[in-house]
Amino acid sequence: EDVMPEKPVRVESPTEIIAISNRSRVIFPESGQTKGNLADYYAQLAPAMLPFLANRPVSLVRCPQGRAKQCFFQKHDSGSFGEHVHHVPIREKDGDSEDYLYVDDAAGILTCVQMGTIEFHGWCARTDDVEAPDRMVIDLDPDEGLDFADVKRAANDIRSRLSDLGLVSFAMLSGGKGVHVVVPLRRDHSWEAHASFAERFAKALGMADPEHYVANMSKAKRKGRIFVDWLRNQRGSTAVMPYSARARANAPVAAPIDWNELDDFDKASAFTISDAAALLKRSEGKLLRGWGVAEQSLPDV
Ligand code: ATP
Ligand code: MN
Ligand code: MN
Repeated sequence: EDVMPEKPVRVESPTEIIAISNRSRVIFPESGQTKGNLADYYAQLAPAMLPFLANRPVSLVRCPQGRAKQCFFQKHDSGSFGEHVHHVPIREKDGDSEDYLYVDDAAGILTCVQMGTIEFHGWCARTDDVEAPDRMVIDLDPDEGLDFADVKRAANDIRSRLSDLGLVSFAMLSGGKGVHVVVPLRRDHSWEAHASFAERFAKALGMADPEHYVANMSKAKRKGRIFVDWLRNQRGSTAVMPYSARARANAPVAAPIDWNELDDFDKASAFTISDAAALLKRSEGKLLRGWGVAEQSLPDV
């Protein structure tokens, strides 16, 4: 079972490694990748992930028996994760505080994997000031049957509309069906300002080009369109973190890309955990150095 082994083994090269039990358990039945493969992926990608994931409240998608069995979305825990997974108290709507999870190193990531985690989802804020969001995520959710070419066109369009507002943005293949457009921001506006900006941005798209976009969540209204999911920017919402694996067939991952590359991809699940070496190299290389980093503020519109 997935409990913390009594004596975690630390290997100091190059990252601290947590002992992983049941390494041969198949987590992705379609392609055969195991818990060991998943842990090795995260051990390799930890340096690429941590600049985005560290010190950010996270929700975990845990599938202890593999992605095809029961999975659950976890925001809180009662201390069962041990010393490498930390807690931050966050005020809930009812006024009480709840402890949320965060990690700040490779040992924290691997502890989560040991506990059956496949996906890491993060807040748009960091633990030292959870009331001051530091990024905006525009999550493009295509209706079933739409071509990925439509998603690419929409992402490029959104990039240029953001640019018209003075905002630099970055693209990420979600590992599922869509693309996330990520806008790093100075922490100088409230959650209300972020959510309101994102909502007005999405609704303006829907008005300007109703054939392609819809800002309303309902599946019925999405028919043949892309839902511009602005709701990721509300306090308490999360979005999948860069380089997180996805609990979907064949172990795809959320992959930051350069805007110049977007045209080359024919699906949002182009990279998988089997591409660890290539993903790490991309993240270190000129191509993606600076991805997700920009000093900018929300315009007053
Ligand atoms: P895709 O490209 O296939 O849409 P995605 O990661 O964007 O992949 P969405 O369904 O659009 O998937 O979800 C957007 C985000 O909403 C997720 O990344 C996650 O952070 C959050 N989310 C999804 N499911 C839940 C859930 N059951 N509870 C809470 N938050 C969720
Ligand atoms: Mn989505
Ligand atoms: Mn969505």
